[in-house]
Amino acid sequence: LASRDFHPDDTIIEVKGVKIGGEHLAIMGGPCAVESPEQIDEIARLVKASGAQILRGGAFKPRTGPYSFQGIGVEGLKMMAEAGERHGLLTITEVMTPEYVDVCAEYADILQVGTRNMQNFDLLRALGTCGRPVLLKRGFSATYDELLNAAEYILAGGNRDVMLCERGIRTFETYTRNTLDLSAIPVLQGLSHLPVISDPSHGTGRRELVEPMAKASVAAGANGLIIEMHTDPDNSMTGDGVQSLFPDQFDNLLRDLEKLAPLV
Ligand code: PEP
Ligand code: MN
Repeated sequence: LASRDFHPDDTIIEVKGVKIGGEHLAIMGGPCAVESPEQIDEIARLVKASGAQILRGGAFKPRTGPYSFQGIGVEGLKMMAEAGERHGLLTITEVMTPEYVDVCAEYADILQVGTRNMQNFDLLRALGTCGRPVLLKRGFSATYDELLNAAEYILAGGNRDVMLCERGIRTFETYTRNTLDLSAIPVLQGLSHLPVISDPSHGTGRRELVEPMAKASVAAGANGLIIEMHTDPDNSMTGDGVQSLFPDQFDNLLRDLEKLAPLV
């Protein structure tokens, strides 16, 4: 079902009037984690003012260590839903386990599968019937074929609204957090009809590399970008402040991107 052979035309996913896929660029911006009502509301205001359509933010965070901040859970989902509504933005958030699919689907417009869960098959099956579009991140050691098979699990359950996301893979390089595999964008678009989104934030792990890699992703044909932005990145509650753009950087980037492709 994910293959272009089965479905020759590009899939366009429509969420409350916003079309993801095709010629326009979908921009998802926001913090790594929802931290407080004030934080997410202010970031939502800035995301909207910059011309993006989708607010990102994690309420359930997959952290390497069990003692690290794990996200604020359902309260965070509610805060993000309110901020999205107030500022006229769609919302996207990560769901980590099948048990939480329903509550995440209740509060968010799009559900995200993180890189660590790309082959959590029970989660993928649950997303097949969740009634929400899904952004499926590539596992950091997954091949294109494994990513497409993971998408297939969701599609096979009846959910045809799946986006593929390149978010960087593990290589021998340590300067960057991951290596953003730009080739994934045209390759996946050739193999599949599903929209392809790029994540230059996790793909590089370094703020100064987000802008060039965002532009490179668009040049490579990405249908959208998911970008971390924070009003106070040095004090963010996850380690991802180092890769989060300041609001003015996010705004400048969008001004440049809209010269390359119209924003949704
Ligand atoms: C995130 O989007 O904040 C995140 C945890 O992403 P990934 O699963 O790509 O690491
Ligand atoms: Mn993050």
